[in-house]
Amino acid sequence: MKVLKFGGTSVGSPARMKALLDIINPAERQVVVLSAVSGTTNSLVEIGQAYLAGDKKKAAQLITILKDKYEIFVKELFAKPEFLAQGKEVIDYHFSLLSNLANDHFTNIEDKIVVAQGELLSTTLYHVYLKEIGVPSVLLPALDFMKIDEDNEPVVDHITENLQPLLDQHPEVNLFITQGYICRNAYGEIDNLRRGGSDYTASLIGAGIHSEEVQIWTDIDGMHNNDPRIVKGTQPIAQLSFDEAAELAYFGAKILHPQSVFPAQKYKIPVRLLNTMDPKAHGTLITNTSEKDKIKSIAAKDAITAIKIQSSRMLLAHGFLRKVFEVFERYKTSIDMITTSEVGVSVTIDDTTYLGDITKELNTYGSVEIDVNQTIICVVGDFGADKHGYAARVLEAVKHIPLRMISYGGSDHNLSLLVKTEDKVETLRSLHNRLF
Ligand code: ADP
Ligand code: ASP
Ligand code: MG
Repeated sequence: MKVLKFGGTSVGSPARMKALLDIINPAERQVVVLSAVSGTTNSLVEIGQAYLAGDKKKAAQLITILKDKYEIFVKELFAKPEFLAQGKEVIDYHFSLLSNLANDHFTNIEDKIVVAQGELLSTTLYHVYLKEIGVPSVLLPALDFMKIDEDNEPVVDHITENLQPLLDQHPEVNLFITQGYICRNAYGEIDNLRRGGSDYTASLIGAGIHSEEVQIWTDIDGMHNNDPRIVKGTQPIAQLSFDEAAELAYFGAKILHPQSVFPAQKYKIPVRLLNTMDPKAHGTLITNTSEKDKIKSIAAKDAITAIKIQSSRMLLAHGFLRKVFEVFERYKTSIDMITTSEVGVSVTIDDTTYLGDITKELNTYGSVEIDVNQTIICVVGDFGADKHGYAARVLEAVKHIPLRMISYGGSDHNLSLLVKTEDKVETLRSLHNRLF
């Protein structure tokens, strides 16, 4: 069984939704994961923020604006009055739920309920559309099988145990539609897999049901060799290894959710990145194998904070790094990059929720310096220890840019630079011009 995920633009208009059947083959048994219609999650985030700020008037205005868009959407999606009426019922249900939250005490729990409505709307409307055109399908509620634990880690066994029986209940049906992004947390509340999380849903379902392939259908012909939003003339990469794709996703290639490669990698499920607007394009195939002796791609991750801890007395003493890392561990803050010298260590983090506490504790081990507004530039390629010349090419390309940190050798396929965010665009362009 295959898992196909369609992103926001791929379901972004009634015409696009209808065109999905050019790609989905209803004769094949498959799980189809849908994102929210593009723009919807951003609007829902704003609605949640208005509620959280106690601004019910603004929330009501934003709800009306979004609802109006859906009123137009359903008019174009459905041809028959009976199904248009069903479509209207769907939007009335979800938008009443949003409006009625004005009567509740609004906390982060309600906020998660708000942002979940996007995927619930897109999948329910698509399911009704399939009914209208006579294509049998089953709508599977992701909230019944997608779960994260206390550490926000997905529970793959829970997916297997709860999704497989749902699929088995319908041996006669080929098409199973479900929501990306949304899940339940350890307390049974509605939660989500973070922005862009529908990719993660697809990969987790792939892992949970041991699917033969996961296809991520989006608005571009695969993973490009640099960020196409910033650099002109980027090219798609035909083949990537799981490790390479994971590095690129983690370090900012927006086409894939940062965590989405890991479940597929663990269960050795090939992932294809494909273009809804150009379904015949090869896209990118992600498997265990990789093309050798090449620099593949460059990605950038913003909003990074660098922390330097210096202590002439302690760095070389054994146990110093352990103490430093334990501070981050206590605050569940993960470190992305590390560089060391005789008298100090620099690390980067992207989650600054506990930066104040972390700094306070680190101060007991040495002097602490913080640099905000940094960007990690990650160059991915085949850089095994037996290779030479790649680092020289990278550094030559950025010789005019101040570098805060350089990390090489952590794996066989990553060379990372930390630069000021204001230098990001020039760094990406200069690397692109000289490396490809
Ligand atoms: P979807 O809504 O389908 O999930 P996303 O917007 O999340 O789509 O991801 C696709 C977008 O990712 C592309 O339109 C592109 O602008 C952006 N992107 C950033 N870096 C890359 C890259 N290296 N390769 C391809 N696309 C990238
Ligand atoms: N709709 C969610 C978002 O916009 C999830 C996704 O599109 O993958 O972040
Ligand atoms: Mg996405």
